[in-house]
Amino acid sequence: MSEPRGVALPTVAPDLRNTESIATARSGRARYFPDVPDADWNDWRWQFRNRVTTLEQLHRHLPVAAAEWQMRREVLRDFRMGITPYYLALVDADDKDDPILRQAVPLDEEYQYRDVGDEDPLGEEKFSPVPGITHRYPDRVLMVISNSCAIYCRYCTRKRIMYEDAVPDVEIDRMVEYIARTPAIRDVIVSGGDPLTYGTRKLEGILAKLRAVPHLEIIRIGSRVPVSLPQRIDDELCEMLQRFHPLWINVHFNHPRELTPEAAAACDRLSRAGIPLNNQAVLLKGVNDEVETIRQLCTGLMKMRVRPYYLYQCDPIRGGEHFRTPISKGIEIMEGLRGHTSGLAIPTYVVDAPGGGGKIPVGPNYLLHHDPKKKRAVLRNYQGRLFEYREPTGRAGPMTSKARRGGGELGPVASRPVVRERAADGNGGAEAGAESGANGNGKPRRAAGKSGWVHRGRSLEERLGPPKG
Ligand code: SF4
Repeated sequence: MSEPRGVALPTVAPDLRNTESIATARSGRARYFPDVPDADWNDWRWQFRNRVTTLEQLHRHLPVAAAEWQMRREVLRDFRMGITPYYLALVDADDKDDPILRQAVPLDEEYQYRDVGDEDPLGEEKFSPVPGITHRYPDRVLMVISNSCAIYCRYCTRKRIMYEDAVPDVEIDRMVEYIARTPAIRDVIVSGGDPLTYGTRKLEGILAKLRAVPHLEIIRIGSRVPVSLPQRIDDELCEMLQRFHPLWINVHFNHPRELTPEAAAACDRLSRAGIPLNNQAVLLKGVNDEVETIRQLCTGLMKMRVRPYYLYQCDPIRGGEHFRTPISKGIEIMEGLRGHTSGLAIPTYVVDAPGGGGKIPVGPNYLLHHDPKKKRAVLRNYQGRLFEYREPTGRAGPMTSKARRGGGELGPVASRPVVRERAADGNGGAEAGAESGANGNGKPRRAAGKSGWVHRGRSLEERLGPPKG
């Protein structure tokens, strides 16, 4: 096949040095699909047609105790299963808690929690002016154009709409008409299901209709195909997509083991077609609820030129309760990232408010105290060190040296003896936080001022005084 205009395809997949994912994928293919020739394995249509969709097919690869059959059958009455051979090959069959397996294969926990949770936890139907559109925010809409995916993630928020049928053209036309008659919409997220499970020509027709809407600035596609069916990201698709810029793609990697050379090559092709890639991970108990796992995921994504965008709190979807973590777990993970790795590799942790309140960012608190009247704030850095920060006062009068600098360090959060001494220069709070004795550099510490801004060894309230207002 000749190389399409504007898409320079790599001959070698980027070297991720993710040896674990490479080894697992290779041994998985050899173990589960030993007789499949490369021509089939690398053909996305073959992968899609040969998805594992029944328990009988699954058990050929992953034997399971008879007692679990019935539970799994019950689970599959509610929510279908679909796993591409490629994604199944990432499963370590010897690990019953394998993070890839947990995402794609129905487990008995899904049966046990079948009555907990909501069918539509984000209230998408409530904000739907026409079927398939969710219009929750002023300037953007979600457009669900597909009811099928390459894999069916057990924690999916849209379990309720997965039917495997194509959304009828007439419904898609109604969605486009809604966007066309609503000038406030400047951004559409084309999602599903997975839009990239459509053939290239069908998807092109939909994108062309959207691009014909004059006020629509941005088209975003949400897809897990680069994770679950990277073979789909072929020359023909990239050549087509790049004709609809500005077009962005949100991908959905959850675990560093998903960062395979095939996935990296798929992302590389999309990037070379000029498509910015952002990752939306979901925080999943037993899959990625460790700081180190998320750190490896995010830094690995950066190597693939994929920006970690969101880390979602898992929605309270029916049958997905066993994946949910307390919010404190997400905060702990964010605390473990900030300052410990590049800011570019840090996603925003968000809770999607139940019932349709939208995404709410949540994170560790770094602003410990703020007094707008005194124009003073106390901030905590990633090491737990406290800093006083002076806001602009608009006054040009004389200042202490620390105030001139804009503030200074107060001291670590860790417990230390409180020292209450008058500052040698009598300047008061500007020298706050200083301690008597030698500091770590062997230099004498400066003494505290009369304001009492010496706070070590006390609770935060005691350090900062009662909250204002
Ligand atoms: S790929 Fe996305 S839409 Fe499809 S099942 Fe997984 S989470 Fe849901």
